[in-house]
Amino acid sequence: MKAEILCVGTELLVGDILNTNSQYISEKLTSIGVDLYYQTTVGDNFQRVKDCLKVAFERVDLVITSGGLGPTIDDITKEVVADYFGEELEVNSKYYDKVVQKYAERGFGNDIASGGEKEASIIKGSRLLENEVGLAPGFFFEKEGKKIIVLPGPPREFTHMVDNEVLPLLKEYSDNTLLMRTLEIRGVPEGKIDDRLKDYFKMSNPTVAPYAKEKCVHVRVAMKGPVEKIPEIESKIDKIINEIKEIYPQATEVR
Ligand code: AMP
Ligand code: MG
Repeated sequence: MKAEILCVGTELLVGDILNTNSQYISEKLTSIGVDLYYQTTVGDNFQRVKDCLKVAFERVDLVITSGGLGPTIDDITKEVVADYFGEELEVNSKYYDKVVQKYAERGFGNDIASGGEKEASIIKGSRLLENEVGLAPGFFFEKEGKKIIVLPGPPREFTHMVDNEVLPLLKEYSDNTLLMRTLEIRGVPEGKIDDRLKDYFKMSNPTVAPYAKEKCVHVRVAMKGPVEKIPEIESKIDKIINEIKEIYPQATEVR
């Protein structure tokens, strides 16, 4: 499954906050063998978010959005997604009740402004993704082979939902895994490593790739395959790691 992350939030574009959600989910998706091909960030602008969805669905099967699910007018992600798919939003009663309860606890009274309804809405016919730590629910929607997962922006909510809702959901679609190990090689410039290991760098599964660091080079060996083949995948990676260690005896394994 090819995937793209779409982070919505002008604060990300102007450098107010670091895009930690993107990093968090990228690592998790990789670990379950989802091919994450693109990360996109866009401001809180209806047309630009819609354009991003159009572009994304031309190149991937799954888009995961982060942010823009709050009660205010600049929170537009759900509205854009509904518009893109030609679907309606509907209030989820459980989450509406949560909003009502929160208002009462905070002494705001029981006049729930339209923002509360908006916050508790998801696309009609979508699968609810529970938000146990916040008020805005997430959802999963699929139409004509296009899959979208919509998640709130606050990192505490986002990470909790990735672990408890998104990964179990995606595992239903993919039994693949990606395993990787990394060697750190000191005292050799990247260009020389390239010469010695170039045949490895041309391989496709497993892949072997160099990453230049400040004072060393990391060489990562990664292989994807079905979960039931983990022992075979591990032994193939092990074989390559040992071959590289023979070429560079000073290599040490990292992480
Ligand atoms: P939003 O749902 O877009 O209103 O975002 C709520 C809050 O979550 C923002 O004020 C940010 O502090 C935080 N946030 C949103 N997107 C991200 C992200 N991609 N990475 C880290 N924090 C984020
Ligand atoms: Mg926002």
